[in-house]
Amino acid sequence: MKVDYILKNAKIFTSNKNNLQATSLVVKDGKFVYVGDEAGLSDYEGEVIDLGGKFILPGLIDSHVHITTGVGFEYTDLGVFVLCPTKKECMDFMADYIKKNPGLKRYRFAMSRASLNGEDITKEELDAICPNAELLLLEAEVHSNWVNSKILAAHGITDDTPDPVPGLAYFVRKDGHITGNSYETASWPMLFDGINDLTDEQISTAILRWLDNSIKVGVCGVFDAGFPEHNGVNERCYAFLRELDKQGKLPVYVDGCYVLTQPRKMKEALEGVKRFREEFNTEHMKVHTLKIFMDGTLKIETAAMVTPYEDTGVTGATAFNAEQVAEILKELNEAGLDLHVHTVGEAASRVVLDGVELAKKELGDKYRVKVTSAHLWVQDDADLDRFAKLGVTANFTPWWHAGNGGPNPIEYWPDFIGEKRAHSMFRCKTIWDSGALVTWSSDEVFYGDFKNWSPYLAMEVGMTRWINEKTDASELQRTVAAFPPASERMSIEEMILGYTINGAKQLGIEATKGSIEAGKDADFLVFDKDMLTAEHEGFSFNKPAEVYFGGKRMNEK
Ligand SMILES: [Zn+2]
Repeated sequence: MKVDYILKNAKIFTSNKNNLQATSLVVKDGKFVYVGDEAGLSDYEGEVIDLGGKFILPGLIDSHVHITTGVGFEYTDLGVFVLCPTKKECMDFMADYIKKNPGLKRYRFAMSRASLNGEDITKEELDAICPNAELLLLEAEVHSNWVNSKILAAHGITDDTPDPVPGLAYFVRKDGHITGNSYETASWPMLFDGINDLTDEQISTAILRWLDNSIKVGVCGVFDAGFPEHNGVNERCYAFLRELDKQGKLPVYVDGCYVLTQPRKMKEALEGVKRFREEFNTEHMKVHTLKIFMDGTLKIETAAMVTPYEDTGVTGATAFNAEQVAEILKELNEAGLDLHVHTVGEAASRVVLDGVELAKKELGDKYRVKVTSAHLWVQDDADLDRFAKLGVTANFTPWWHAGNGGPNPIEYWPDFIGEKRAHSMFRCKTIWDSGALVTWSSDEVFYGDFKNWSPYLAMEVGMTRWINEKTDASELQRTVAAFPPASERMSIEEMILGYTINGAKQLGIEATKGSIEAGKDADFLVFDKDMLTAEHEGFSFNKPAEVYFGGKRMNEK
């Protein structure tokens, strides 16, 4: 058989469990036609390349990214970071800055809620230092903010405005009056106002920057988890990717979604995801998934818990209950669509698991929806084996597994969730060993220098649960020790499988991608060194020497 090229004398990790290692592969018309040892090459005729023992992996699949939120942040000034130890000093800092920089339409600042030491900030206090312009103070987690009266008025938000999701996404009130502080979905439109004015050029410039990075690191497929409350921006970004694909210029497989954040928008979202499926259906750009925001984040205690938070005794709330999840699943089942859910706290993943259980009971053999529960910071012990039992994919973001709570996360987390839970976060190995499908992701919303988007950073921290001076990460992310428990560390093989074949299964593309197997798309990466035996510390510095998508070399020579 005449073929495009033959690679031999390589060390290939195929991610195909029946044939995990090989030394040769053959590519014809963008697909692998042979994978095995050199003895099998005699049937093929074409250019032969001796790789001299180089290492090959399948193209990587990042199973939860935010291409579109990244575009939003690319053009959203987060403001001046206020790094003061007390509320009074923070207020003085902002007042001083405003005085020294007069005439702006909007002043933007960011700070960690921890700086307030339990106090809060009101719109009256912000009005006092900024009476004539807009003022937005973003909380560092990006899931809440404080604004002055000018911004509330511009958005028509009054004491009578209903909360999008009581207990999760809401306007903080005191004696029935809104204070100017809001959480989650209630806060995002104020942060991103102006985002609908982005030009096509701004959108394409940002996405091309993202694509360029993906090619460099060898990410050949992604699930895009969308831009909450901004499906319109999503649509414009996807339209650009679709047009690139039509021109044969999209070198990454993009699986998108439509985002649902609050129950009252359920009907609109179901229609939206069906419309997206019709609109975005080219070779490398598809949509077949509804994405739901089930809860928030741990640091501002909007993640939903089974056991209450240690310091405040609250549990947070989920956006939907199990019955509603089951209802949504029935609709998705009928339409042939899938579900992906943001689930940080133990109650959020439980509500998904309960909803799947209910839907399966009702639909029996007809049930077919692929469900992914993403983030999974904390799980209740009773739920750990239910991912496998119910066929729910567990998606983790391994670069957080160093603790993601400042330099000393093991001191940081007990205040929020107590010692026991603080010592058993991110239980990916337990869930993997229970037989569930586990996938990995970067889940960063800022493009920046793309360091947090690196699969090699994720692989390092997934293996070590530590970001130290040997890691290719910002100094601010370093931690003083490995984050427990050590039993949740993964092996390099598990990191690779989660980033390849498991990701393909989550996206529903395992028939054509995710492993180096005859008949599949020739997406593969060539490394100068053996990744299976590479040092775990400093693994983040790795990068492929050559990246192939559909058999074609994509990165620069
Ligand atoms: Zn996300």
